Amino acid sequence: MTKIEREMKKRERDAIRAVNKSADDFRDIYEDAMKVLFDLVLVLVGIVLGMYLSAMRAQAAETVSIPPRAEYVGPITEQAPEALPEVVNEVNVATMPDAIMVEPVGTHWERLGRWKTTGYCPCRRCNGRNAGRTASGAPMIPSRTIAVGGLPFGTVLKVGNSEYVVEDRGTPYGHIDVLYADHTTASNHGVQYKEVWIKK
Ligand SMILES: [Zn+2]
Repeated sequence: MTKIEREMKKRERDAIRAVNKSADDFRDIYEDAMKVLFDLVLVLVGIVLGMYLSAMRAQAAETVSIPPRAEYVGPITEQAPEALPEVVNEVNVATMPDAIMVEPVGTHWERLGRWKTTGYCPCRRCNGRNAGRTASGAPMIPSRTIAVGGLPFGTVLKVGNSEYVVEDRGTPYGHIDVLYADHTTASNHGVQYKEVWIKK
């Protein structure tokens, strides 16, 4: 082996050693970094767990603070549906939240809004010289006939919980006049604002 060859062998060994050393250093740094990362994950898991547990405790506290139920007043069947007032006075209707208003089931009803409603009867005071007659020529039938402008005759409307047919005129669109059999009953209707749906 010449001197040059020995020198080259030595340099080669040195080079390999240097590469191995840097690989070892890198592995040490990598391992340290992984340890730090693992610790960080542990801390994060601890924080999340702590938040979850305190949320659960808060929920449990809420559950405990639920007020007692209303006093039992007897079976519901004792109160016949007929006993409920058919006509609700104006103040009650106005203050009633929309959520309690039960929208009719089915897709063929379209809500028009909260409309003004009044009552009328076939008499001369309510109809003048058209007493006893509807504008459409249809007979005056209480619980069926209503007067309203802007909708074709024959249009079916749900006013509150009752269905009516537009067969008369006399009030503008947005104001329904409900036909009653006599003048006193019609007057008792007063002015009420009701949810109105149109049958499509
Ligand atoms: Zn009348």
